Amino acid sequence: MAFSVGLTGGIGSGKTTVANMFAAHGAAIIDTDQIAHELTMPAGFAMPAIARQFGTEFIAADGALDRARMRARVFGDPAEKKRLEAILHPLIKSECERAAQHARGPYLMFVVPLLVESGNWKERVSRILVVDCPEPLQVQRVMARSGLDEVQVRAIMAAQATRAQRLAAADDILSNAGDATALAPQIDRLHALYCSLAQAGA
Ligand code: ADP
Repeated sequence: MAFSVGLTGGIGSGKTTVANMFAAHGAAIIDTDQIAHELTMPAGFAMPAIARQFGTEFIAADGALDRARMRARVFGDPAEKKRLEAILHPLIKSECERAAQHARGPYLMFVVPLLVESGNWKERVSRILVVDCPEPLQVQRVMARSGLDEVQVRAIMAAQATRAQRLAAADDILSNAGDATALAPQIDRLHALYCSLAQAGA
């Protein structure tokens, strides 16, 4: 299965919602956030290196990453953030490739929140699909989901690529600006396109 789609979009744009709909069509979904989470669960592959490099105070009683503590440590400290990413990114990459080897379906779809920000992913995928939604709606959705306030959500968004940067990198755009019923026809069309590109060996 050589043909792969990289699904991306800003926080709250609807990546998970959209990925679930592609999965229902049979696409083989590989979610990098989920992989990152598994790597930092109890006995996760990233935990020994995190304990070694950051200290055991970052390990919760159950052996998982103490996420709140690590967030506080890396927030606003680019060097520490880089150090954590140097542990996680190669492991995420290798777990993704392992999952890709075992995946079954007409094509692969990697869900990568920071795809546009990362050079490697842009080269890894055959096609980039951006889930697009207006920023005020993004803020509203994340606030409703997470309990963060608007300033906090805007701070996360400011650390991501802009809407314009993402759209400029897109091969395909899926508009998630309305109610969820507007998604289905767009997903049907893109799924058919990806199946035909995969079959053509694109
Ligand atoms: P992401 O994975 O990009 O962060 P999600 O798919 O989790 O985004 O969507 C963010 C939130 O907005 C979720 O709570 C989701 O249920 C909701 N949501 C997404 N798309 C829509 C939509 N079209 N209509 C209403 N709610 C939506």
